[in-house]
Amino acid sequence: MADRVAVLGAGQMGNGIAHVFAQAGFPVTMIDISGDALAKGRSTIEKNLDRQVKKGTIDGAARDAALGRLSESTSLEAAAEAAIVIEAVTERPDLKFKLFADLDRVASSAILASNTSSIAITEIAARTRRPEQVIGMHFMNPVPVMQLVEVIRGLATSDETTARVVALTKAVGKTPVEANDYPGFIANRILMPMINEAVYCLMEGVGSAEAIDTVMKLGMNHPMGPLQLADFIGLDTCVAILDVMHEGFGDPKYRACPLLRKYVAAGWLGRKSGRGFYAYTA
Ligand code: NAD
Repeated sequence: MADRVAVLGAGQMGNGIAHVFAQAGFPVTMIDISGDALAKGRSTIEKNLDRQVKKGTIDGAARDAALGRLSESTSLEAAAEAAIVIEAVTERPDLKFKLFADLDRVASSAILASNTSSIAITEIAARTRRPEQVIGMHFMNPVPVMQLVEVIRGLATSDETTARVVALTKAVGKTPVEANDYPGFIANRILMPMINEAVYCLMEGVGSAEAIDTVMKLGMNHPMGPLQLADFIGLDTCVAILDVMHEGFGDPKYRACPLLRKYVAAGWLGRKSGRGFYAYTA
């Protein structure tokens, strides 16, 4: 029997992470404070597995087996049996710090991984008595589709913990890339300044949103332009990550473009609010 995995948070990322582990043969417990979020998370997984069956990438028996390996709980104690806990709750430092202190007690022998986009793994690990077993496992959205997992070593993360997480990442069919713990890790360190510069281009009238995105798509072979990608990530999330890098490095090159802040102030958060650099219906 494969190691039990506990996933904390059944939201956008958490249910995707639970999905890929259950599909790969791991028993998975999905934990959330909200019963509603758990029900929604499970139904999203069902829908996404159904889509895979329709596409012919898995058969009906594999879908049923994956769902049979998945259980839900509103209690953190359900993480007790896990060999690894992957935390994907709301991006709030106070919340994650408290959860890791609790997990240190509840899941006393498990590896404790965080899917945080921007909070320092070293700081999260310091809330436990075993920072060598704490690590970042940064999945990309949507998890069942995207190939990359950034594996982030905190200052004290051991080689053994890193090797196990690299192996688990491969076991779910993803490609691990190791990074050290600096603000933004690798993915957002490079992506966010590009998005921010695209917003400066828009603010200064260098080109329209369509022009900027078309240049990057056709000229640089990006599958999606930076402004559209920002809309998909959420403009509030982009500002939050830029703020973490600005504060963490103390370097003005990471300051969020005033136009990006203005959009967030207006409630234009991208696809999730129906309007960002582009308008979205439904
Ligand atoms: P989300 O809002 O969709 O889901 C968060 C879930 O956490 C909610 O269901 C909420 O009920 C639950 N939660 C809150 N407090 C909890 C607690 N104390 N115990 C258990 N569950 C709790 O958020 P998301 O987009 O899935 O993001 C989750 C994490 O993943 C964040 O750290 C985020 O930075 C990271 N991340 C997000 C993306 C992305 O594109 N959305 C990409 C990579 C990483």
